[in-house]
Amino acid sequence: MQRKMAAGNWKMNGTQSDLVELHEIDRLHASAQCDIVLCLPATLLLPTGAFGGIVQIGAQDCHAQPQGAYTGDISAAMIADAGSSHVILGHSERRTAYKETDAMVRDKAQAAHLNSLVSIICIGETLAEREAGQAIEVLTRQLAGSLPDGVTPSNTVVAYEPIWAIGTGHIPEIAQIAEVHAALRNQLTQRFGEDGLQIRLLYGGSVKPDNAAAIFATANVDGALVGGASLKARDFSPIIRALEAS
Ligand code: PEP
Repeated sequence: MQRKMAAGNWKMNGTQSDLVELHEIDRLHASAQCDIVLCLPATLLLPTGAFGGIVQIGAQDCHAQPQGAYTGDISAAMIADAGSSHVILGHSERRTAYKETDAMVRDKAQAAHLNSLVSIICIGETLAEREAGQAIEVLTRQLAGSLPDGVTPSNTVVAYEPIWAIGTGHIPEIAQIAEVHAALRNQLTQRFGEDGLQIRLLYGGSVKPDNAAAIFATANVDGALVGGASLKARDFSPIIRALEAS
C-alpha cells in the first residue's frame, strides 16, 4: 500500500536562503505518516542533494533525451545525479508556455523512470473545456497519452490539476473532484490492472490549510500537489497534518 503524498511545487521561487522552509518542514514532520516531497527550482537540487531528511526532493521538469544540444534543459540523469528522487512532468504551465504535448510528457516520464525517478505527471482541463462539458474527455485523453507503458505505483504519481484552479483561490466543488478522480481511477485500473488501484492520485489547484481536509476526505484523493502554499512551512505544515488525519 502506497502512503499518501503531500507534494510541493515551488515553481520559479526560492534561493538557498529559502531552504530554511524545507528544514522547518522536516523538523515539524520528522515522523510523518505520509510521503512529503518538495519540487524545487533546478538551482536548489544540488544544495539539497545530500539532505537525507524526511522530505524528499524533486525537480519540476526534465528533458526526454539523456544528453545533447538542448540549451537550458536538464536530463533525468542529471536530476538523479544531483540527488533528487522525484520530478514533476507535464505541469500545465509547461504545457501552455512550452507547448508540451502528451507524447512529450510520456517520453519525459520514460526517461525519468529509466533513471529511477518518481514522475508526478500532471493533467488538467481549462475552464472553457469544463464549461463545455468536456473535462472528463480531455482528462482521459491526457492520461492515456502522458503515461508510458511500464508505469507502476512506485514510479508514477498522477496529479489532477484543473488549470482554472491553479493559483486562483478557486477549487472545484468536492463532487467534481470526486467525479474526476473516480474516472481516472477507473482508467488506471483498466490499463494497469491491480496496480491501477495503488497509483496515487493527487489533487492540485489552490489547496490551502482551510480547504485541505475536505479535499482529502474525497474518495480516490491520495494527496495533493501544492503550489503557493508549499513555499512556507507555516502553510504547508497544516496541509500535511490534514493529509495525515484523513
Ligand atoms: C501548482 O502549480 O501545481 C499548484 C497547484 O499551484 P497552487 O497550489 O498555487 O494553485
